[in-house]
Amino acid sequence: MKNRLRTLTEPFRIKMVEPLKITTAEYRIKTLQKAGYNPFLLRSSDVFIDLLTDSGTGAMSDRQWAGIMMGDESYAGARSWEHLERVVKELTGMEYILPTHQGRAAERILYGILGGPDKLFISNTHFDTTRANIEFTGATAIDIVYDEAQDPEADLPFKGNIDLDKLRQLIKSYRSENIAAVIITVTNNSSGGQPVSMQNVKALRRICDEHNLLLVIDGCRIAENAYFVKHREPEYKDYTYEDIAKAMLRLGDAFIMSAKKDGLVNIGGLLTMKDEALSLKCKNQLIISEGFTTYGGLAGRDMEALAIGLTEVFDADYLHYRIRSTAYLGEKLKAKGIPVVWPIGGHAVYVDAKKLYAHIPVHEFPGQMLACDLYIQGGIRCCEIGSVMFGKYDENKQLIPAANELVRLAIPRRVYTQSHIDYVLDVFDDILALKDQTSGFRIRYEPPFLRHFTAQFEKI
Ligand SMILES: *Cc1c(COP(=O)(O)O)cnc(C)c1O
Repeated sequence: MKNRLRTLTEPFRIKMVEPLKITTAEYRIKTLQKAGYNPFLLRSSDVFIDLLTDSGTGAMSDRQWAGIMMGDESYAGARSWEHLERVVKELTGMEYILPTHQGRAAERILYGILGGPDKLFISNTHFDTTRANIEFTGATAIDIVYDEAQDPEADLPFKGNIDLDKLRQLIKSYRSENIAAVIITVTNNSSGGQPVSMQNVKALRRICDEHNLLLVIDGCRIAENAYFVKHREPEYKDYTYEDIAKAMLRLGDAFIMSAKKDGLVNIGGLLTMKDEALSLKCKNQLIISEGFTTYGGLAGRDMEALAIGLTEVFDADYLHYRIRSTAYLGEKLKAKGIPVVWPIGGHAVYVDAKKLYAHIPVHEFPGQMLACDLYIQGGIRCCEIGSVMFGKYDENKQLIPAANELVRLAIPRRVYTQSHIDYVLDVFDDILALKDQTSGFRIRYEPPFLRHFTAQFEKI
């Protein structure tokens, strides 16, 4: 315990290395210009520290790589499937376990069956693939976090909680037979990786029981959430992280997981449930689109690595390092005077670019500017979450800006060391020194949908 007050250290050492290219600022200026000032269009080999996403970008352990070699590639009833099924049954307490190739495949199967025109889904915040899969069926998706949690500076312990009063009102006005499911996303990805309390999920369970509603847990960061529960809800301080996750998952009727996050693997997903009739419908869809019920869209070796990853992710030293290393970055940025969303969530730090670049109007995309400046100054790649991603146009083609202009620094699991994080902090010193010289962007090209992936910009 004593060394926890000292430098935060990785609870692992390095056995294999992946070299990174170190580039000059001149090279990066040219490269970024060629990419139309959109970091999504950069080649990864031109990036030094890649903080674009924590999804599928983690490093596997020696045990997982050993598992890869031991994977059983039999079509049906493979040993690796039995291993994965056993681990997931124990974790969720659910009887029916379906493997999928990633989270959105599980979403398409479940919400395709539950959804349809006139149906309503209610969540703390629907992740973008969740919303897309729901809306694709003709159903409606409504987000209800607490109003006070939407203030980026409000220092609250569980800003991911679902607003139970708003839920009761929605049940009253829409009637429970029209509500296909309530989805609780832990941690709440789209609101900054903010945690959800056990108390909130317990209360949600009671409301779902009263009104006969299906409760789905979108738990791709269930281990990271467990860390916050242990340290912020006194009742759980003596629980292990795994027992907290088990207790939370037992409150759900179904569980969806993108294994690319807390599964500690590069590809994979899970769909599990308690109800047999629902599981039979889901299995039919699984066989049509993903694969047989004992492999889904996964190779035997993928399932073996996932079974091991789901055990490793609850290791107390790993989770402490994981959550503290993200918080370290956020806390040090705040101390430098960089405005960040507070408190720091589990998998990412969000910088408030509208505040940092107060002289750049929102229609000149301050978040995109910051993402580009971080690449030019330090070869760091990250993602704008502001008006480039969520802005819309009114009938006069004027921008309706997003609520916030954020830049997300997502931290891949077990990939970068403390000195990489210190390097990111150094680059922010240059960002601060140069911030008044920065000017905005206009859009040169944009596609009709999901423009942040392929839009191109020019400097004003
Ligand atoms: C990543 C994610 C998904 C989708 O999973 P994929 O594996 O990317 O398809 C769904 N929900 C949440 C909360 C996520 O973070």
